[in-house]
Amino acid sequence: MPNVPSAKIRNVALVGHGAAGKTTLAEALLVCAGAINRAGRTEDGTTVCDFEPEEVKRKISVSLSLAPFDWGDHRVNLIDTPGYADFVAEMEAGLSVADLAVVVVSAVDGVEVQTQVAWRIASELGLPRLIFVNKLDRERADFERTLDQLRELFGAGIAPLELPIGEEAAFSGVADLLTDTAITYDAGKPSSGPIPDEMSAMEHRVHEALVEGIVVADDDLMERYLEGVTPSTKELETTLAHGVAAATVFPVVCGSAARQIAVDRLADFICEIGPSPLDRKPTVVRAGDKTTEVPVDPSGETLVRVFKTIADPYVGKISLIHVLSGTLRPDAVLTNTRTHSDERLHALQLLRGKEAQPISEAQAGDVIAVPKLSEARTGDTLAPKTMPVTIEGVPAPAPLLSIAVKPKAKGDEDKLMTALHRLQEEDTALALRREDETRQTILSGMGDTHLQIVLEKLQRKFGVEVDTEPVRVPYRETISQPAEAEGKYKKQTGGHGQFGVANLKIEPLERGVGFEFVDQIVGGAIPRQFIPAVEKGVQEAMGAGGHYGFPVVDVRVTCFDGKYHSVDSSEMSFKMAGSLGFKEAMEKAGPVLLEPISRLEISVPAQFQGEVLGDLNSRRGRVLGTEAGGGDEQIVIALVPTSEILRYATDLRSITGGRGRFSLSHDRYEPVPQQLVDRVIKAALQPA
Ligand code: GDP
Repeated sequence: MPNVPSAKIRNVALVGHGAAGKTTLAEALLVCAGAINRAGRTEDGTTVCDFEPEEVKRKISVSLSLAPFDWGDHRVNLIDTPGYADFVAEMEAGLSVADLAVVVVSAVDGVEVQTQVAWRIASELGLPRLIFVNKLDRERADFERTLDQLRELFGAGIAPLELPIGEEAAFSGVADLLTDTAITYDAGKPSSGPIPDEMSAMEHRVHEALVEGIVVADDDLMERYLEGVTPSTKELETTLAHGVAAATVFPVVCGSAARQIAVDRLADFICEIGPSPLDRKPTVVRAGDKTTEVPVDPSGETLVRVFKTIADPYVGKISLIHVLSGTLRPDAVLTNTRTHSDERLHALQLLRGKEAQPISEAQAGDVIAVPKLSEARTGDTLAPKTMPVTIEGVPAPAPLLSIAVKPKAKGDEDKLMTALHRLQEEDTALALRREDETRQTILSGMGDTHLQIVLEKLQRKFGVEVDTEPVRVPYRETISQPAEAEGKYKKQTGGHGQFGVANLKIEPLERGVGFEFVDQIVGGAIPRQFIPAVEKGVQEAMGAGGHYGFPVVDVRVTCFDGKYHSVDSSEMSFKMAGSLGFKEAMEKAGPVLLEPISRLEISVPAQFQGEVLGDLNSRRGRVLGTEAGGGDEQIVIALVPTSEILRYATDLRSITGGRGRFSLSHDRYEPVPQQLVDRVIKAALQPA
């Protein structure tokens, strides 16, 4: 494919709810542009964008994929994104490089949960948006109902540019409201003519909506409109273009991706009115604590952001990059500003689905692939050595659901960790940690499907099979009162024996302090060199578990007396004395079981607030407060025992029909209420 200047690039993300038709639309656009001969189908697993086996199997997109095509002298970098809540991070990554979001809405199902999520993220980014009402050929498709819903949910600025001609199976084309012409399709081929008379009533209604949607972008025009003056077509067109760029006017077009109706018009629209990267806001970069702005300029210094990494077991690593300034050519050497090492960009590629094509240049704004970068990770900035800046990135989403994994085959631990690290490189929503207290390897992600797919990829890409088990809650113990005990270790075997006595006092410390050891030995009751052994013994006993079998925290241990024997005493005997003394004192000190408490921040539409609060209550939650969020959302902040919300990602989804979201962080440890201790112990000790 030829090189294209910045002004001719269009970075377009397809977003919306799952099954609205994004992947089918990408396919239709590629056919229309002559980039592929015939459209594949998600049902058959033959599309350009959903090629990973996990996507083919489920018939859904799991990761974002690129599908560039040429339209006249423009290059459209189409970015197909998943519409399923578990993969929202991929949609965010796609939107972060887009200059226009095409929100695909099914005319049968209307605005759905992920449509609204996509809209919210795009509006937070200030991104221009266009709505494609799809599936108009389907039974029960209803354009006007969908339009009313769009206007109701997304407010002023929704400007319908087209009307469907014919309904359901008879849907044959669109009426262009700006030029007052009908375009009908026969096997994907358009022909124009006058708008059928029987549409005039609907045309009148929707034309009104169009004018109302556009005039919001211009105060003068709005004022004249309210005084009864109808703007001219020219005025409407100019205001529309400005309004789209400023993300105040959101045109609505319609069609059928599956039947190739009005798909060419969408491509025209993207190229004629859609913004180019040169219209993009300058990139905010940081150097130390100073931030500056770098405009998108093909003749500026080269500035690149890695927005996605693909771990391919055969090709190796492929980095998807957004060229934010300058002009990139193969063999460019840039500095990775996170690691400060040089990266040579040997080859530049246009990636379409899984097919790569070499290119010889990428100008500012372009979205391309670079194979085999040595250190680059998602989120990294590549810049000249003289410009050590980092681009303010998209934060990784906080993981919501966890499972514990261990390899099926003994001895595969290292292989598992290496594979998980590789998968983490391509998936910023995946978190991995080793929990020492419960001796589990914990994998966290956005939901069940996400984690399931990670396990499938582990096996397919890296040949590692794992067993999963529920995450064990890291309970702990502490004490409620001071106590003393004598730890005595005495063993008389054959010749030389073992002897050590340590007198210990233990006291509760404030929550979170951990452990303190005080040496109060005077007069050599225990020789100096053995005191560290006493401390070590105490710590080992604390780690091994107290009264309930969980690690002990927040205690001060004072060794105030002891005894020794000049021949039989050794480090080993004092370590044992420390351990025994601690265990005995612990039993007298009123052991307390502690549980981790998480802080939850939940955003839900107001209608669900009551149910969410009631549910938190049944989980022993303590609501710290509620406040108004964006739109009609309410934010609930609560502290909840971690054991009660291990599957909150799934639970909140079912309470709110997917309309709620939350973030989760560890907050503190608190005593388990006495009446629940037995239940907790039983559950915690159950074999996983
Ligand atoms: P995505 O999840 O948004 O990418 O949706 P897909 O492109 O996978 O489409 C979901 C289903 O809707 C598939 O079975 C498509 O064949 C079907 N589909 C998509 N667009 C149309 C359309 O315009 N008309 C009809 N009848 N079906 C469509």
